[in-house]
Amino acid sequence: MKVVIIGGDAAGMSAAMQVVRNDEQAEVTVLEKGSYYSYAQCGLPYFIGGLVEDSGDLIARSRDTFREKHGIDARIYHEVTELDPENKVVKGDNLETGEPFEMTYDKCLVATGASPIFPPFDGNDLEGIHVLKTIPDAKKIVEDMNEQVTQVTVIGGGYIGLEVAENFVEKGMSVRLIDLAERVGTVYDKEISEKIEKVAKKQGIELVLNESVESFEGDQRVEEIKTDKGSYQTDMAVVAIGVKPNTSFLKNADVHLHQTGAMIVNSYMETNVKDLYAAGDCATQYHRIKEKNDYIPLGTHANKQGRVAGSNIAGVTKTFQGIVGTSIMKFFELTVAKTGLSEKEAEDLNIPFQSILFEGHTHAGYYPNSEKILFKMMKHKSNGQLLGVQAVGRDGVDKRIDVAATALYHNMTISDLENLDLSYAPPYNGVWDPLQQAARRL
Ligand code: FAD
Repeated sequence: MKVVIIGGDAAGMSAAMQVVRNDEQAEVTVLEKGSYYSYAQCGLPYFIGGLVEDSGDLIARSRDTFREKHGIDARIYHEVTELDPENKVVKGDNLETGEPFEMTYDKCLVATGASPIFPPFDGNDLEGIHVLKTIPDAKKIVEDMNEQVTQVTVIGGGYIGLEVAENFVEKGMSVRLIDLAERVGTVYDKEISEKIEKVAKKQGIELVLNESVESFEGDQRVEEIKTDKGSYQTDMAVVAIGVKPNTSFLKNADVHLHQTGAMIVNSYMETNVKDLYAAGDCATQYHRIKEKNDYIPLGTHANKQGRVAGSNIAGVTKTFQGIVGTSIMKFFELTVAKTGLSEKEAEDLNIPFQSILFEGHTHAGYYPNSEKILFKMMKHKSNGQLLGVQAVGRDGVDKRIDVAATALYHNMTISDLENLDLSYAPPYNGVWDPLQQAARRL
């Protein structure tokens, strides 16, 4: 069986490993347009900040390992530009030689990920304007941070923008963050965003909200950013306003796409086209609480979906069980996390809900270093089903969110959550976990 995988990172290589592990006869070719395989994009902000000194540490498995140890024909600089599902052919260009190539397949996985959105602002080709998605992107930013660069502007207040802003502050830069929304962290409700903004201001980050970037100005290099309301001097800019799935090369392939452009997949990671699979940031995820396909491009989903796709390609049936919308980020001393729905998501879906804010503690107050955690918890108004939890604090946020994510996955009600047998000793918790206290209040 000839398996062609397009894209050699999280989803693609999780799949490739499943194919070679489950079907020794399969011939696996991976077509990757860049030069890196299996690396942690999630670690890139910390490479900019210097916490990760060597970008090589972000590589989980090299191309050579895939080729030599696992017998995978892992190619670099091979960009796929067209897919012909009728004849089961992929076509593209070898970016090193400039030669076109064609390849037939029995089964094909699209794992092309997503690209940063980079709107056609005037002046966006000036030097000193960056995006952050790949190791080369991160290296360019690091190389660009010379002594003349002291004022950096991050455009976009989502988790990547915030992580990048933090790491620029760690490098001693003056940092400004511009967003067209009225607050940063819009995946969270406003009470959580307020906590993030408070820390941003404490760290000296200039927040420019409710302003839309219109152009970059400068001679050769960016010197100024113009918005609809003002203009701002800057020595460098990073645009982090979201991503779009890399699916435009499928234009003639009649693949069903989600409104975001992601390929619609079922739980086997199959598309509507025979023997064509998709996984990761170029594919949808079924959202268990929303009960519909969603697009939340994250590494956790890419790895799981890739593994499921690879197993199914190799004939070992597996299903992707969907997501509940869990994510977490560090912002200076804060941990900010969410699982399930925010108020806006529930409103958009017309789900009747009730919510509360609850301030709990990491562990028993009399034991040293007890810290506050702010929770926002939502339940379905009529049946009491848990709908979502958001949390922000210094410690202990991660474990509460993961407990809540488990509860959501199993459709638990607020009273199920209250009755869970969770661990307690004074250094770790109160007799009632703050999640359970919040559930009781709700
Ligand atoms: P990608 O990793 O994007 O890989 C797709 C590959 O396909 C790329 O190597 C690309 O070069 C190749 N490709 C694309 N088009 C073609 C083509 N036409 N032909 C050939 N090859 C092609 N997720 C989390 O869960 N937690 C985090 O903390 C987190 N932090 C992040 C921080 C940053 C700065 C970034 C950028 C992402 C972060 N993510 C995080 C998201 C996570 O990295 C992605 O969800 C994950 O990498 C997606 O994996 P993928 O394999 O689907 O796509």
